[in-house]
Amino acid sequence: MRGKLKRDEDVFVGDFVEYDKLNKVVISVYPRANRLIRPYVANVDILLIVVAPKPQPDWVLVEKLLLNCHSQRILPVLVVNKCDLLDENELENMIAPYRREVKTFSVSAKKGIGLDELRSFTSGKTVCLSGQSAVGKTSLINALGGYRLETGELSRKIDRGKNTTRQVEIFFIGDGKIVDTCGFSIVDGIDIKPQELIYYYDEFLAVQDKCRYSNCTHTNEPGCEVKRLVNDKRISESRYARYVKLYKELTERSKRRYD
Ligand code: GDP
Ligand code: ZN
Repeated sequence: MRGKLKRDEDVFVGDFVEYDKLNKVVISVYPRANRLIRPYVANVDILLIVVAPKPQPDWVLVEKLLLNCHSQRILPVLVVNKCDLLDENELENMIAPYRREVKTFSVSAKKGIGLDELRSFTSGKTVCLSGQSAVGKTSLINALGGYRLETGELSRKIDRGKNTTRQVEIFFIGDGKIVDTCGFSIVDGIDIKPQELIYYYDEFLAVQDKCRYSNCTHTNEPGCEVKRLVNDKRISESRYARYVKLYKELTERSKRRYD
């Protein structure tokens, strides 16, 4: 690094830089399209949010990742892995609530199902992988890119996990690249205010002028139109529940911040 530039502070994995080949120094960093934190990755085009029938999906985590993508202008993609463990109905039930909001793929890293579609969709892009542990992120890197990384809970991950919360590896998949962030936790990186949360819920926005109070947060106010539609099953109950949970978390956090 030249001059005041600091590794991990000013220059991140995924950055495009001006490089002095002769002297082997990074001279400057070009402006970033976006940046994820914990660990830092810059210029991400697509975030693959991987879920699977096993372990049971954490939909609140999925919702957080989606919000993060929106606020960072990253294209989110929901990947249901281990589709070999699901029949058509079960798969449909899993995807249905998200279909309008996010592009979805169902794949099996193990059985090689749906991989061509995913590979061509991500071709030429910088892709980041996220999702709970054991959903099959490593298996996907192997299957998509012909790698032979060790899967399962064992040694590689323990090794990598030890002091490597910020370790980031780039794998090349065709003419695209996948960034594997090991213990990925961008969840804490959502940088929105509680009152901004509503802007990520189009179906709530569309009806909120019918709420009794103009400053209704749709969490516990009487005369709330959003809640009425949830009761009538015209707004997804589980999506509403995740909204409320996130709203509370964000409120808690903003309180702590100003204590
Ligand atoms: P990671 O923690 O998200 O990187 O998950 P891994 O890639 O290590 O996979 C966790 C476990 O799920 C391993 O035992 C894999 O063999 C298994 N697995 C991965 N993909 C599939 C799949 O498509 N179908 C099935 N049935 N199992 C899978
Ligand atoms: Zn309301």
